[in-house]
Amino acid sequence: MSKLKFYFSVIAAKTAAKLLRLLHMNATNFPGQVGLVLCPNLLSYFKMPQTVIAVTGTNGKTTVSNMSADILRKNGFPDIVSNSYGGNVDTGIASVLLTNCRLDGSFNSNSAFFEVDERSAPHIFPFIKPDYIVCTNLQRDSMKRNAHTDFIFNILNSYIPEKSTLILNSDDLISSRLGSDKNKKVFFGLEKLPDEIPSDDSIICDIVNCPICGSALNFSLKHYNHIGRAVCPSCGFTNPKPNFDGVNVDRESHALTVLHDDSKEIYTLPADRITDIYNVLAAVTLTRTVGLSQSQVSSALNQTKIVKSRFDSFKIGSTDVIISLAKGQNPVACSGVCNFIRHENGQKAVIMILEDFYDAKRTSENLAWTYETDFEFLKGDDISQIVVGGKRCYDYLVRLLIAGIDKSKIFCCVNETDTVSLLKPQLFNKLIIIYDLFNVKSLDAIKSQLGSALERN
Ligand SMILES: [Zn+2]
Repeated sequence: MSKLKFYFSVIAAKTAAKLLRLLHMNATNFPGQVGLVLCPNLLSYFKMPQTVIAVTGTNGKTTVSNMSADILRKNGFPDIVSNSYGGNVDTGIASVLLTNCRLDGSFNSNSAFFEVDERSAPHIFPFIKPDYIVCTNLQRDSMKRNAHTDFIFNILNSYIPEKSTLILNSDDLISSRLGSDKNKKVFFGLEKLPDEIPSDDSIICDIVNCPICGSALNFSLKHYNHIGRAVCPSCGFTNPKPNFDGVNVDRESHALTVLHDDSKEIYTLPADRITDIYNVLAAVTLTRTVGLSQSQVSSALNQTKIVKSRFDSFKIGSTDVIISLAKGQNPVACSGVCNFIRHENGQKAVIMILEDFYDAKRTSENLAWTYETDFEFLKGDDISQIVVGGKRCYDYLVRLLIAGIDKSKIFCCVNETDTVSLLKPQLFNKLIIIYDLFNVKSLDAIKSQLGSALERN
């Protein structure tokens, strides 16, 4: 009977997907929702391709998924089934599988690749049993969804299949402990870079005490937040030794040197923020572990371009403009952007539109994350102005004042698109705009006003 339900759900989902495409509507989750209503355990009926890969983790999973799938497609996995353009929860993955499978649940392709939301692991991993699971890192995220890193660690760790080879970040003392003795584990890590500016003054550190004996950990290196190297003085608990160890970055030639099995491998770095380097390390470690050679991975990375949607830069008159997605509600990602701003050269102004107000329509609004975010990084003398737009601008004013930022530098407006009119172009030569996905429409309106506001500078 259940098998019959499965056939019926495949036909219904494929029909729904075709109709949505005809109507030019988004088919990301709906076919999967239909399929899961008709056959709740449908994921267990697919005859999965020979190689199944999943990427999860708090930050970087979309970039690592897209980069890795791209490398694989260029090297012997041309028809990979993936959710690159789909949802990363069970309905999204069900949609991809239902719309790509044959009627009996088998596939033309020999491989499948999924980005998996950490919280959806219990609904996905027991059924599709990935051969390889990458976890980029586990860090605090939106409190409303992810609560705490221990909570997410336990969800993931309870559902990792024994057969999965785990690709883990050795510099993350939380996610590097995922899996059991039965899992094969391959670690990637990053040494202190010669030109690295220490970033150990963040207010965020998600692991302070040894998970074995509870003693305070001694950190010898923090690349950012808790990502780095530490040792427990009581029991010796420390980071696993990386199998793929980033040892140097040449920013001029965009090259990352990785030490693997005592030999040096050079890879192109499409971007060189510390999080970008980790994303490349994760993609390299996965694709090399799956079986590609150094030259295959290297040549595919040579053709990779920076994803423009989250980071854009251009010039208006004599003013440099940088636009960056800041991922509000995620203190780690937003602090990373604040850290980036403080290390940018020039005399700077910042427009900040991180309006949580829109989220109140879907769930409840919670601004507590702003108190876990390193807005303290923005108090340097080289920042002349911070213009905050949105209905909660005065909450941000309070947070920025607590961060020690001079009140005379902070400008607030309830309408996000009024932020441009509050700029004083004579005070800066670089403008950095940080926004959240909720604010994309306002960002477009702000961009359209920049020409007239900055050209006279
Ligand atoms: Zn210990």
